[in-house]
Amino acid sequence: MSFTQLGLAEPLLKAIEKRGFSTPSPIQEKAIPEVLQGKDVLAAAQTGTGKTAGFGLPILQRLMEGQPVSGNNVRALILTPTRELAAQVEESIRAFSEFLPLKTAVVFGGVGINPQMMKLRKGVDVLIATPGRLLDLYQQNAVKFSQLEVLVLDEADTMCDMGFLPDVRRILKLVPTKRQTLLFSATMPADIRKLTADILHDPT
Ligand code: AMP
Repeated sequence: MSFTQLGLAEPLLKAIEKRGFSTPSPIQEKAIPEVLQGKDVLAAAQTGTGKTAGFGLPILQRLMEGQPVSGNNVRALILTPTRELAAQVEESIRAFSEFLPLKTAVVFGGVGINPQMMKLRKGVDVLIATPGRLLDLYQQNAVKFSQLEVLVLDEADTMCDMGFLPDVRRILKLVPTKRQTLLFSATMPADIRKLTADILHDPT
């Protein structure tokens, strides 16, 4: 199996090659075609399996089509439990989108909010965020979700362990119900199973 056979477009294949990926990992083989088709996906995958490319590449391909982003809007939102993971995911998404006209940004707590508000002003195609800071930005009208097409919960079990589930549920109430949702978790405890039943629509 090659990345070309998975149905990825040329600008993404070029970026993958530049990053030195030659063969898709098992999670990438399974997730990429499903995400490209617009399906919801539930994946048991740990860090180190290549899950970021598993969701990032097909999301970017889907974002190549569709309407350009308006001010303060976001087309794909990736929620992560920690700022380290948020920064790491953003670094990967930025590299994958090198040959695409798509904008990415990352926001997390513990640093000044104003530069993040500035970054969001013109809208971003992909936003990687920790839940608390995203809600702060929303309350300050710095981010809007009316154009949101895809939502990813990355390391959902860690978000649950860190007590972020109430914030995640608050965010779920703010985003459009018509969207694609992807949930990645290393383990599937009861809380996560409940969440998946509530938010995923006929997932793979
Ligand atoms: P992740 O599980 O997404 O955090 O990825 C773990 C590491 O594997 C990262 O350093 C990626 O750049 C790398 N990686 C992901 N997919 C591939 C692949 N298909 N071939 C080689 N390296 C990869």
